[in-house]
Amino acid sequence: MIQDTLTPIQTTLQPSSLKLQVKDEVYDPEFEALVEELLVRVGEDPRRDGLQRTPLRVAKSMDFLTSGFSSSLEEVVNNAIFEDSADEMVVVKDIEFYSLCEHHMLPFFGKAHVGYLPNGKIIGLSKIARIVDAFARRLQVQERLTNQVADAITDVLDAHGVAVVTEASHFCMMMRGVQKQNSSTVTGAMRGTFKEDARTRAEFMQLTR
Ligand SMILES: [Zn+2]
Repeated sequence: MIQDTLTPIQTTLQPSSLKLQVKDEVYDPEFEALVEELLVRVGEDPRRDGLQRTPLRVAKSMDFLTSGFSSSLEEVVNNAIFEDSADEMVVVKDIEFYSLCEHHMLPFFGKAHVGYLPNGKIIGLSKIARIVDAFARRLQVQERLTNQVADAITDVLDAHGVAVVTEASHFCMMMRGVQKQNSSTVTGAMRGTFKEDARTRAEFMQLTR
């Protein structure tokens, strides 16, 4: 009996009938349905020409913009840590980043400056930028982003000190709320020697000016 009922179902799964069902690209049906609902809520018609693929695009782009939630520090660093006797301050400045504020889900973007004092280990410079990206690509507040980058670099390098300063413009302040287009927000996180020693901190600030 069971065999009999299964057989006809299997025969309907021809490649040609499968092809017919895939009319449009589908990425994440639940997410796309939410975006469609959102479009209706803001008074739009999701069926009009320009909006037909919008739910799909938004779902994909949101996944990318929040992909930092699923990346681990080990993956990001990917063994690019090297033994080295260098003991001078290493500074990477003007690392551009793009993030989303967790209060409005609107972008904030700017630059990060990162410095560290090696303690027997150095890191591939591009990895510092990738660490910034990993923490920027999620819902964030700038203060936490700055601290997370500082803590991550402290963790992977066991450095004498780590300094991170970020400066950013926030769309939630520029497009809405107080509507201030030219203000920028600066936050800093100092660890180890950078926290304890004013001269080291001043040297970092001088180099990143
Ligand atoms: Zn905001």
